Amino acid sequence: MKAAVLYGPRVLKIEDRQVPSIGEREVLVRVKVTTICPTDLRKYTGHSTFKEPLVLGHEFSGVIEEVGEKVDFLEKGDRVTVLPFIFCDNCRYCRMGRHNLCLKLGGIGGAAELGVKLDGSFAEYVKVPAKNVYKLGRNMTYTEGSLIEPLAASLGGLLNAELKPGETVLIIGAGPMGLLQISLARMMGAGRIIVSDLLDERLKYAEEFGADVVINPVRESVYDVVMRETRNYGVDVAMLSTGGTIMASLASEALKFTAKGGRIVVFAGVWPPTNASLDLNPIHYGERKLVGSFIYNREIFSRALEVAASGRVNLERLVTHRFPLNNIEKAFQVALSKEGLKIALTP
Ligand SMILES: [Zn+2]
Ligand SMILES: [Zn+2]
Repeated sequence: MKAAVLYGPRVLKIEDRQVPSIGEREVLVRVKVTTICPTDLRKYTGHSTFKEPLVLGHEFSGVIEEVGEKVDFLEKGDRVTVLPFIFCDNCRYCRMGRHNLCLKLGGIGGAAELGVKLDGSFAEYVKVPAKNVYKLGRNMTYTEGSLIEPLAASLGGLLNAELKPGETVLIIGAGPMGLLQISLARMMGAGRIIVSDLLDERLKYAEEFGADVVINPVRESVYDVVMRETRNYGVDVAMLSTGGTIMASLASEALKFTAKGGRIVVFAGVWPPTNASLDLNPIHYGERKLVGSFIYNREIFSRALEVAASGRVNLERLVTHRFPLNNIEKAFQVALSKEGLKIALTP
């Protein structure tokens, strides 16, 4: 089978490999669609560590080709997507259902680096633990199946924000995650949805996905627009979904335009790690909350799948480019250029 193997920063080789042989509780998936995630880009550019040669890719869908002996709930031919994190199921967090906080969080395709590591989906076939496999809804496309992973992470963010019907939401960053958050916030009953991004192209997508107000901070102050739109109260929820070191200053800025009782969600990681300096008084006197959100547990992944099956989020619209696996280098270049949204590979 063909597989794209990463040996080091920007050293990606298409190789001919043996189709993986599966264990009794594993299944073999023939990959149909797999999408590129910023995590893959970080590994590709050398901004994230990984040890041995690795096949990247953790957002994917496909068809089951082979089922392990002890797997009785899946069959050859099933159309599926895969939860790409490996939970130990034994630590305190796993036992409380908070799998995303697992002490030994492992992953498929470099999704996580501590526990079990398996090769990912930038290949024709991928072997995965059966308990991580989820069947697609009857009407779902493989592209939608590939995007359950980012949808689940976005949903986790809004659930951690404890969004209530009618509340005003500010989403900073209109990349694929921000756009999914717009759709989900709409579905969950948000009142006004305000979105900011430095790229006008992305603000156009934001409007298409359901933003009421868009802001380009190059031209307008986010603070001014938020205050104007909220009768000077500020937003109830601020999602910091841009990523990058700017997150540190955004956290302290967001305290100024978040309403009392509001929640600020640190949705993306900050690389390289950067300290934020915060005025604690708005947190104390205004009972504002600064909350983290990192991926999802099994419940949220299942819910994301059901949301997608309902057809109420336009996942197809997120994919702007498609490349065959052989052109993976080109696909990575397009993804790095930030032209378009999600880049899909079709092995
Ligand atoms: Zn991802
Ligand atoms: Zn665990």
